[in-house]
Amino acid sequence: MNIKKMMQNLYQLRDEDFAKYHINSDPIEGKIPKQIRGKVIRESLDCGYEEARSLMGMVELPNGVRDIDIVRLAESLGISIKMKKAHNAMEYIYFGTYEEPGIIRLYQDNIRKGEALVKEHNIEELIGINLEEVVLAHEIFHHIEARKKELYVNSFRINLWKLGPYTHRSRLICTGEIAGMAFARKLLNLNFCPNVLDVLFLYPHNQMQAERLYQEIIKLSKKDYE
Ligand SMILES: [Zn+2]
Repeated sequence: MNIKKMMQNLYQLRDEDFAKYHINSDPIEGKIPKQIRGKVIRESLDCGYEEARSLMGMVELPNGVRDIDIVRLAESLGISIKMKKAHNAMEYIYFGTYEEPGIIRLYQDNIRKGEALVKEHNIEELIGINLEEVVLAHEIFHHIEARKKELYVNSFRINLWKLGPYTHRSRLICTGEIAGMAFARKLLNLNFCPNVLDVLFLYPHNQMQAERLYQEIIKLSKKDYE
């Protein structure tokens, strides 16, 4: 399937659909009971939207006009942004990473390859979208996540095992990823789910893998959770 067609199909998916792919990618996916997955998705999405709303409230100008300069916003939160050339591990392509105490690395070469693909294939839905900002917005959420311990994504725990009165509980990776995606969407007022970029960014490096990821996302989007 060509990239334009894949992107058009992904564009139709809702945030809830992409969230299923995050749940499925969680290292302890098997421990997440089926009957709570729908609720975990909804609460993680709400957590991301809510954090975006509260940040946007802070930068709202008196006349109600929003002036979101996302780079300045990141800096005002104490984040330092480092532009990186390509650095790809064998099986993983990096676009953005977050690291304490507030360092976001943006892998410009990889992001630019995605932008070039948008132009080359005339993927209308993404023309004019600054993809670097989308990656940055997602990573800003991880900065907030690392600081606000009271967030749903930090407090939610899964019971792993029980030994007498002691229950071992673990947080999930997927909740932060789902919230980060919702956060970026809301903050930048995007009319698509930022995770469509996972397929776009992978495509220039490995078309087969990108198509496999696409098929996986589509397949998981059809799963039913309560
Ligand atoms: Zn992330």
